[in-house]
Formats: sequence, C-alpha cells, structure tokens
Amino acid sequence: MTSVRSRLATTLAVVLVLPAIAVIVAFGVKVPEQAREAASVNMLTTARAVALSLTTRCLALGETARALALQAGAKNLAAATDEATRRQPTAFAALIRGGRVVASSGQLPTDLPPGRLAGLRCTRRLAESGPVTTDPPVLLEVVSATDATGKPLGEAVVGQVLDAVALGMVAAKLDPRDGTAIALDCPDGRGVVTGTDAATAAVLRTAAREGGPERIGPWQVARVAATENQGCDVAAAVQPAAGGRPMSRIVAVFVAGLAVAAWLVLRVADSLTRPILALTEAAERVARGDLTTRTQAQGSSELDRLSDAFNHMTDELQAKLGELESSRNLLRENVGRLGDTLQRTHDLDGLLMTVLGAAASATVSQRATVWLVEGGSVVARVSSPAGAPRPTARRLPLGTELAGVVAADGLPRRLGHGQGDSTTVLGGPALAAPLRRGHHVLGVIVVERDPEQPAFDADDEAMLVSLAGPAGIAVDNVMLHREAQRLSVTDPLTGAGNLRHMTTTLAREVERATRFQRPLSLLLLDLDFFKNVNDTYGHTVGDAVLRELARRLASCVREVDVVARYGGEEFVVVTPETDIEGAERLAARICEAVREEPFVVGDDVVQVTVSVGIASLPQHGSASGDLVRAADEGLYAAKHAGRDRYRVASSGEPAPAGDVTADR
Ligand code: GH3
Ligand code: MG
Ligand code: MG
Repeated sequence: MTSVRSRLATTLAVVLVLPAIAVIVAFGVKVPEQAREAASVNMLTTARAVALSLTTRCLALGETARALALQAGAKNLAAATDEATRRQPTAFAALIRGGRVVASSGQLPTDLPPGRLAGLRCTRRLAESGPVTTDPPVLLEVVSATDATGKPLGEAVVGQVLDAVALGMVAAKLDPRDGTAIALDCPDGRGVVTGTDAATAAVLRTAAREGGPERIGPWQVARVAATENQGCDVAAAVQPAAGGRPMSRIVAVFVAGLAVAAWLVLRVADSLTRPILALTEAAERVARGDLTTRTQAQGSSELDRLSDAFNHMTDELQAKLGELESSRNLLRENVGRLGDTLQRTHDLDGLLMTVLGAAASATVSQRATVWLVEGGSVVARVSSPAGAPRPTARRLPLGTELAGVVAADGLPRRLGHGQGDSTTVLGGPALAAPLRRGHHVLGVIVVERDPEQPAFDADDEAMLVSLAGPAGIAVDNVMLHREAQRLSVTDPLTGAGNLRHMTTTLAREVERATRFQRPLSLLLLDLDFFKNVNDTYGHTVGDAVLRELARRLASCVREVDVVARYGGEEFVVVTPETDIEGAERLAARICEAVREEPFVVGDDVVQVTVSVGIASLPQHGSASGDLVRAADEGLYAAKHAGRDRYRVASSGEPAPAGDVTADR
C-alpha cells in the first residue's frame, strides 16, 4: 500500500523534475547548439574580414611599389625606399637589379634571397612561386621599373612580414569575438596563427588549407579559401563553450537544484500530510474504542475544518454512547425488575406496580395506571407512583373513555395536550396500550406526562406496546395462579373451603391461638335428616340446598372466620378469637338462619334444620385433632338431643341446664 505522503512526494517530484529536465535539455543541448551556430556565422564573417584585410593590404603595398618603381631611375635610391617605408610604416622596401639589392629600407626577410623576392606577388597564388621555405608569410608586391625609353631599371619591392603580432594587429582592427583564433596558410608553405597554442595552431592551419568539418574538437571553424587577390587560405575559429557556461557547471547546478527540489518536495509532502496522518491516527484510535481522542486544529484550512468536524463527530459519538449506556442501564434495571416481578406470580398488585414503574421510566412519564377488565367494565387497579391521585372514574364501561376504548378493541391510543378524559389525571398527554394474552384483553396500561412535557410519539407507543406484551402474559399467569390456588382450597359444589382448606386453616389458627393464648372455637354442623331431602326432592335439589347452606353460613360469620365443607352435608366453621360463649351465639344464629327461612330450589320449598357441635381452645384440648373430636362429640350430643340445636362438647364447660337448642 502506497502512503499518501509517498504518492504526494512522487507527484511533486514529477511536477518539479520534468521542468528541470526541460531546462537542462534547453541549457545543455539547445543553447550550446545555438551558440555553435552563432559562432559559426561569426567565424565565417571574421575569416572573410581577415581575407579582405589581406587583399586591402596587398593593394596598398602595390600602390607603394608602383610609386617606388617610378623612382627607380633617380639618383638617390635610398631616399626613394625610405619614402616607401614612410608611406607603409610596417613594411620594407627594396630596389633590386640583377638579383642584387641596390637600395632598401626596413627589415627585409632574411630567409628570402633578393632573387626570390622579385618573383613573389600578393595578388598571385604563392604556390606558383616555388617550394616551401619557412614561416611567417610575407605580403609582397613587386613592380618592374623602366626608364623613359623602356629600358629595365630593376624591380621595386614593397612587402610586409605577416608574423603573429602583425596578424594579431590586423585581427584586432576587426574587433573579433573573444577567444577567436585566426590561421593563415599560404601555398608556399608559409603560415601564421594567432590566438591559440602551438598544437591547436597546427590543426587550424591544416583546417585553413584543406577545409573540412566546421567543428574540430571544441573549436567552431570557418574557412575562406585563397583567391587571386588574396594569396593565403584563412581560417577563423572559436570555442563556443568558452563564451557560455561549461557543461559540468550546468550539471552541477542541475544536481544541486534537484537536491534542493527533493528536500522541498519532502518538506511540502510532510507538512501537507502531517495533519492527515494525525487525523488518520486519531480515527484509528476512535475505531479502537478510545472516544477521548481529539485532534488539534489551529487554522481555517480544509484540513482544520475536517479536524473540527472530526472532533465534533467524536463529541457526538461520545454523547450518544453515554446516552446509550444510560438507557442500557435503565433497560437492564427494568429487565431485572420485570424478571423479579415475573417470579412473583402470586402478587398481582406487586407485579402491576413493577410493570407501571418500568412503563413510566421507559416512556419518560410522570404517572401510570393499570385498569383491569372485570366483566363489562374496566376498573382502575393500581397507580404509580404509589400514593399518586387516582383517576376520578374508578370503573368505566368497556368502550368509553381512553382505558375503556383500548380495553374494548385492544389497540393502543394516544391523547394530545388537553385531550385528557376521566381516565387521566395530570391533564397532559396520555398514552394507553392493552395488557393482553393473545386476543384476550386483560386490562390497559395508561401512562401520562405533565402538561408542559412533549406529546407521546410513535416510538413511545411502540415501547409501551412491547412492554405491555410480556406484562399481559405475566398478569394472566398471576390470575390463573390465583384461580388455581382458589380452586385448590375450594369445594367445587358449594364454593366454601374444602377439607384441605379447613385442615390447614385450623392447624394455623390452633398454633397462633396457643402461642398468643387466645381463644379459638370450632363448630361442626350436620344437616338433619338430609337423606330424606335427597329422597324427597332428588339429589340435584339436595346439592342446591348444600350451596344455599354454604351461602347462609358465610353470611352468618365474620371476615376472619373460615367456613369449609367437611364432607357430605357436614360443614365446619373455624372462629379465631372466639370463646365458647361466642361460639354458642354463632351456633344459635346459624340454627336460626337455617330453620327460619325455607330453602327454595326452583318450585321446591325445602325446610331443613341443622345440628351443631362446639369445641373450644383450650377447654377441649390443645391440638386441632382434639378440637375436631370434641366438636364431633358435641354434634352427636345435639343429634341425640333431638336435632336443630347445638351442643358444647362435654369435656368443655358444662352447657346450661337442660337441652340447649338455638333460640329455644
Ligand atoms: P341425621 O344426620 O340427621 O342423622 O340424618 P341424615 O339423613 O342426614 O343421615 P346421614 O348424615 O347419615 O346421611 C347423610 C346423607 O347426606 C347421605 C347422602 O345421601 C347425603 N349426602 C351426602 N353428601 C351429599 C351430597 O353431596 N349431595 C346430596 N344431594 N346429598 C348428599
Ligand atoms: Mg351426616
Ligand atoms: Mg345428616
């Protein structure tokens, strides 16, 4: 994987290096090329100018030679030659007759015998003049002198040795380019070079003589070949690089420039990518779960804005995580509470209070009420928080008001501000959801908020519905449990307690009475001649008589007394906090309640009576078995005494004198 930094560095390098290469190509190739072209033109001009100067010089020498020839017959020949050298200060002049110098002025070249001089002419090609001798060349004009009759008077010679100094002076007048070397190569083998060393001089002389390539080594060479008027070949040469920068310096500057560019590229790439790197590292830390990570933004660049946005995002994330954490804690708390509640399957109100607490906290409500369906109504059962004011209506017909409507159709509903009804208390927004098991609606949860709070929304509704689901099942379970429990201690025919209920109740009450030394009595009842009732009216009527007897017994006793069917047509009443006298009063009341009002079953009117045996604690023993036995004895006594009466067991306090019968 290539990092942004290296990619950026590569891009910048390419961007910088390409122009640099273009520059080096321009400076390294194009510029020298142009320099050479310019030098080539310049050298050609210089060579031509030198050639022209030589021709001009020869013409001037010729002029002077002709003037000297006119003086060849004069007496003072020395004056004539002096005059000639005066006219041409750098030249020499001589009059030659018969191969001998008769008069001369200036320095004649020592390597040329006077005889040879007569044959040399500037304007002729020197090759025709004989074999090569030595340097330097001599510019020379020779004019034949005659007298008036045409008789030869000799040769007038005016010439100039063109050594390096003289050539340099000629060249200097042309103002050539710096470093220009000029070579003359003459056909007689003479030659001269100015402006360079001996080795190069030989090369340049060859170039002047033979022509050839324009570039010789570092030299840019131009050549002008000898003509009729200009006896020597001329070459002018220059080293173009000498006028410009050496290649090595350009390369050095280029390399240094590259190094600086590379350093700059790395610095720029580093400064550009450092914030990105910091941001990337911060993002990675956040991804690993460290939400305290923040980045530093100091300016207003795009990266700083990105950094700000990152910090803002992390703040939000942290805040949301905090909210999530607290709502998770709340959920855990509610689940725990609900779990507790589901275990309390025998405590309906406790379960409902827990459900209400969870509902209020899940929907952020200030108040909650559970309404339970009872027949064709809904009844307000419990409200949360405990002690809060209850709805004005306690019982509503199904289909009326918020709770009644939700209980009727089993669908959740919301009320906005000011829409409250007698189901609600606070006058703010309300929300109701059914407590149900399958299609069976058991009740309704109503939650409310204070008027200044916002209305409930769809999320709140969904939350309450999802909470009401399991709560409905739990409530139904509690009710089923209660019913099962009730049935387990209830006699199915009469609805009174069954034998088991009597046994456990009696055992508990005996223990309590004994521990606290409180009175306790037991009444054992048996319908008189009940067999006859069955025989006369049938078993169904007999059953109805037993149900009615249970109802009358229940109406005779106190809340704390327990009525149970002992078996067949025998019943038991356990009466806590009741001594023998109290029990006798109760027995008398029971006998009367049975005797005084016939039992009406359909069209049948059945007259029955009951006999009662009484036993009390502590008079008749200390265990429940003692009491039962004693009561049975009392019952037997009552039967024996003629029925429709009560008897206290004999081991107890003696009954009032004679047969004691109820109300008799
Ligand atoms: P007494 O007790 O006065 O001595 O006479 P009795 O006719 O009541 O005699 P007993 O107690 O021996 O008879 C009990 C009768 O009660 C027998 C039975 O037909 C009737 N019986 C017992 N259980 C039921 C019941 O569940 N339904 C009906 N219809 N009759 C019952
Ligand atoms: Mg009986
Ligand atoms: Mg009986």
